[in-house]
Amino acid sequence: MKNETLLNIAKEFGSPVYVYNASKIEAQYKRLTSAFSKVKQLKINYAVKALSNISILKLMKKLGASLDTVSIQEVKLGLATDFNPQDIIYTPNGVSIEEIKTVAKLGVQINIDNLSILEQFGTRHPNIPVCVRINPHVMAGGNTNISVGHIDSKFGISIHQMPHIIRIIENTGMDINGIHMHTGSDILDIDVFLYASEILFDAAKNFKTLEFIDFGSGFKVPYKKDDIETDIEEFGKKLSKRFNSFCKNYGREITLAFEPGKYLVSEAGYFLTTVNAIKQTTSTVFAQIDSGFNHLIRPMLYGSRHEIYNISNPKGKQRFYSVVGYICETDTFANNRRITEINEGDILAFKNAGAYCFTMASNYNSRYRPAEVLWYNDQAHLIRKRETFDDILNNQIEITL
Ligand SMILES: *Cc1c(COP(=O)(O)O)cnc(C)c1O
Repeated sequence: MKNETLLNIAKEFGSPVYVYNASKIEAQYKRLTSAFSKVKQLKINYAVKALSNISILKLMKKLGASLDTVSIQEVKLGLATDFNPQDIIYTPNGVSIEEIKTVAKLGVQINIDNLSILEQFGTRHPNIPVCVRINPHVMAGGNTNISVGHIDSKFGISIHQMPHIIRIIENTGMDINGIHMHTGSDILDIDVFLYASEILFDAAKNFKTLEFIDFGSGFKVPYKKDDIETDIEEFGKKLSKRFNSFCKNYGREITLAFEPGKYLVSEAGYFLTTVNAIKQTTSTVFAQIDSGFNHLIRPMLYGSRHEIYNISNPKGKQRFYSVVGYICETDTFANNRRITEINEGDILAFKNAGAYCFTMASNYNSRYRPAEVLWYNDQAHLIRKRETFDDILNNQIEITL
């Protein structure tokens, strides 16, 4: 997005503010669906947890996406934005059987990743078709927090426990209509992904009534110029071919599903902040902004490197700054980063602020969560108001002492 547009948004809606570019989301969606155009039945389930604002969900619906959800609240957000229950898949981990039953009653596709839950659910509701989440134990992911395929991961049912799954299905008479994996974020090597897919194809042969195979997500998006990213076109070509030959052997067409979060929304997002103060110490120049890990925690939680640039002075001389927040905790966004000269009051923009940024924001230090703006059809639409002091007090109960 143009600097001028972003500056105007910061002026109109205040700072800090998240801005999402709808046309970038659309471009990503189209790029993914084009890469798999040879597959007859393709389903893109947008992972709601990446960015769950209802206006974003509405945009996804308009594009033709379905939803991937991990909590009953995300399911309800989907239903509130008029998604059909059958266009929502629910892939929880560690939730109660009661929540799973409640979601199933709403008509949403259930995805189970635990043998005990599978057996309990199948015993009670053998007529509700269920998807099973398999852990193929293939390491794919740049960061141990987000690679969920390893042997001691809490996600999925181990591929080595296939005989147990089959026994449960035989004993309960339940119907398995889908098989799923989600090995973790940041797939850099297509061949590693294809290797995991082979394990899934092999497992799929055990089920006679499949309607879909869900390959999860983990597409790597660039975080800076010339950064590595998943080659979607090559990936689409290879997996489509393999999937189509699987369908042939399986005896009928089934659906190929993905559930991307980051891929669809990460690059569409900008986080705009104001520089409160410049602080020069003997070793460092700090740019202190009106934010912290209460608004954007990924650099501190995952070591993610978000590009930061000065939209108030884009042509200025480059200098080195450590960009830090205003909360009482070490909240370093960037260490000694080369940025064009910063003055107090300048607006700094963070890139890749679409996925796992606002959704992870909190009220730490009793600060307000930021506003969110959607740039759609060349217009800025406020899609979430900045919080106010009432929101901080909301739900608190002052007792009489
Ligand atoms: C988080 C999650 C996703 C989305 O992952 P991205 O890396 O954002 O694409 C997909 N599927 C499941 C089950 C998830 O938990």
